[in-house]
Amino acid sequence: MSITYDVLIIGGGPAGLSAAYLCHKNGLSYLVLESGKAPFQGIANTYPEGKLVYASRPKDAPEPFMVDELRPPDKPVTVESYLQYVQHFVQHENLNIQTEVAFEDIKDGRDGLTVITSKGSFKGKKVVLSFGSNIPRELTVYGDAKMVAKNVDDPAKYIGIKTLVIGGGNTAADVIISILKAKRQENDTHPVYWAHKAETFDVNKETAQRLGEEILLGGNIRLLPGSIPRIGEVDEEGVDRLIIRINEFKQADGIDLYHSLSFPMHNVIACIGSQGPMPIFDKLGIQMIACAAGVCKIAKEGERLVLLTSEYESTRKGVFVIGGAISPSYMKISEGAITEEKHPNLIYTAINDAYHVVEAIKKKLDK
Ligand SMILES: Cc1cc2nc3c(=O)[nH]c(=O)nc-3n(C[C@H](O)[C@H](O)[C@H](O)COP(=O)(O)OP(=O)(O)OC[C@H]3O[C@@H](n4cnc5c(N)ncnc54)[C@H](O)[C@@H]3O)c2cc1C
Repeated sequence: MSITYDVLIIGGGPAGLSAAYLCHKNGLSYLVLESGKAPFQGIANTYPEGKLVYASRPKDAPEPFMVDELRPPDKPVTVESYLQYVQHFVQHENLNIQTEVAFEDIKDGRDGLTVITSKGSFKGKKVVLSFGSNIPRELTVYGDAKMVAKNVDDPAKYIGIKTLVIGGGNTAADVIISILKAKRQENDTHPVYWAHKAETFDVNKETAQRLGEEILLGGNIRLLPGSIPRIGEVDEEGVDRLIIRINEFKQADGIDLYHSLSFPMHNVIACIGSQGPMPIFDKLGIQMIACAAGVCKIAKEGERLVLLTSEYESTRKGVFVIGGAISPSYMKISEGAITEEKHPNLIYTAINDAYHVVEAIKKKLDK
C-alpha cells in the first residue's frame, strides 16, 4: 500500500520549500515534488549569474517574513550564495523532497487526491501547487513522440552528436554557447543546428558577443531560420525523432515540396520560452474568471484569473495554489464577493502564502 501524505507540494521554490518546512514543524506528513535537479531550480534557471537577491516587501504588507529561515538576508547576497544557503537548509532540516519529478495531473480518489507525475503517482489528502509562474512551453508537434529537453544540465552529453537547439532568444543562444564550448574543449566538430520559426534571431548584445567569440574560436553552428518543428515520430528502430521543416516550396499544381531534417529527440533542446500556468489550471479543471471591462485594476480586460478562497483553496477541493503561480493577481472569493486581489511576484509573498496555507490545512485536517 502506498503512503497517503497529508500534503503533496508541487514545486520546490520559496513557496514550496516554506510549505514543506512548516509541515515538518507542525507534524504534517508531506512530500515535495520538484521537476528540476535541485530545490530552487526555478530561481537557479531564471536569475542571471551574480544577481543580488533582495528581501523586498510590498510597502503596504502588514506581516513580517513568516518563515525567517528562508528569507533573503537584509544585506543583499548573490543568487549563488542564497542558493547555497538553501541547499544547506534543506539538508540540515532533512526536508522530504523528490527531484526530477515533473507534475502532470491530479485525479480524485476515494481517500484523497492522486497526483500523477513523470515518475509515477503519489497520494495526498491536500495538494499545494507552488510551481511558480515560469512553465516551460511544450513543443506543439503532431504525433506521439514529444519529449525533448528544455535546458542543458550537462553540455558534455552533446559531444560527438549533431545537436538541434530550437528557439530564437537569449536562452537558446546561451545553450548553444555552452555546447560549443564543451565541443571545443573536446575537439568535436559536429555542428550545432540553431532553428527558429522567425527569419531573424533576437539576442542581446552581450550574448551575441559571447556567441560570436565561440564561432570565431571554431564553433560549428548552422543557422536554420524560418524552420518549424512539425512531427514527433518513432522510427523503425524505435527511436523517437523530431522532424523539423526547414523549407517549403509552394507549387502551382498544389503539390507542395518540403525540405525537412529529422533529429533523434535526445539530440534536441527546445528553448521556446515559458508561459503562465493557465493551461495547467485548465487541465486540472480549476476555475478562472475573465476580467470584465473596468473590473480589474492589475490584469487587463479579458485576462483570466484563478479563483481562490482567502485560504488559497481553488475550486478544485483540496487543491491550493500559492506563490508566483498566482501573480500578479488572482480573484479572491470572500464573504460572498469576488474581487481582484493584488499578489506581487516576490519571495516574500511566496513564503507568506505558504504560512497561511499550512495554517489552513492544519485546521482542515484537525492537526
Ligand atoms: C530575474 C528575476 C529576479 C528576481 N529577483 C527577486 C528578488 O531580488 N527578490 C524577490 O523577492 N523576488 C525576486 N524575483 C521573484 C521571485 O524569484 C519569485 O517571486 C519567487 O521565486 C516565486 O517563488 P515560487 O516558489 O512561487 O516559484 P518558483 O521560484 O518559480 O519555484 C517553482 C518551482 O517549481 C518547479 N516546477 C515548475 N513546474 C513544475 C512541475 N510541473 N513539476 C514539479 N515542479 C515544477 C520549478 O522547477 C521551481 O523550482 C525575481 C524573479 C526573477 C525572474
